[in-house]
Amino acid sequence: MIEVIGLSKRYGRLSALIDVSLRVNAGEMVVVLGPSGAGKSTLLRCINHLTEPSKGEVRIGGETVPRDRAGLRHVRSNIGMIFQDHNLVARMSVLKNVLAGRLARMPQMLSMLQIFRADDVRVALDCLKRVDLHERAWSRADRLSGGQQQRVGVARALAQEPRAILADEPVASLDPKTARIVLGDLKRAARDLDIAVLCNLHQVGFAREFADRVIGMHAGRIVFEGSPQALDAQTLARIYPGLEDSTAASANEKIENLRLAS
Ligand code: ADP
Ligand code: MG
Repeated sequence: MIEVIGLSKRYGRLSALIDVSLRVNAGEMVVVLGPSGAGKSTLLRCINHLTEPSKGEVRIGGETVPRDRAGLRHVRSNIGMIFQDHNLVARMSVLKNVLAGRLARMPQMLSMLQIFRADDVRVALDCLKRVDLHERAWSRADRLSGGQQQRVGVARALAQEPRAILADEPVASLDPKTARIVLGDLKRAARDLDIAVLCNLHQVGFAREFADRVIGMHAGRIVFEGSPQALDAQTLARIYPGLEDSTAASANEKIENLRLAS
């Protein structure tokens, strides 16, 4: 599972994260909501030390993330990442893209030569099955639709056999119907495989639909933590100040506008 204790991050005079503590249990999907600039991406980047936190501690599966290279490599092999842009290699097959998730678990010589063992291929195909794309294993990645490519991104993260997955606005560029399929795949896999998922989203509706728990951030601080059912108008106004007078229906639209404006 993921444990974050007293995490702070400063960029010069700007405090991007202020004393953030949270915990995501195995099998649980926690969604982080917050306006642009709230610190959602910084939080994820600090958790796997793509960004060095100014203060605080991160533990993955009970282990403190060490700062040395070997330690970082080990911890990162336990954390799958999913970004808004799936970052697939367009000209490679779907299967090879998913196998890339296995690289950290392979002997270095084999990974350098891109020789994949039968076991690795089996794991990769199983992960593709979990996102219902095993029949496309031998297609070139760029022949797939945007939503399918993001599901391959999910399969690649799963192929790493991680203890945790960090997803930074994984459905930001997808239409709502496709986004639901991707989030559904992610949630189901996390539950079935006992993976802790921390997922940044900007759509309140998706948080209501898919989150086991929601964390609301504003200006670097956690301003809400609770069940998605607790996301009433008052709570949303704390996460997205300026929306106090909004009905639930118009809030989503205003949040989207805030996002586009920033
Ligand atoms: P979010 O993902 O919620 O939109 P971010 O984590 O990207 O928010 O950003 C939080 C704050 O930190 C913002 O004010 C942003 O401008 C700032 N920030 C993020 N990355 C950097 C950086 N590398 N250098 C300086 N400031 C940064
Ligand atoms: Mg962000």
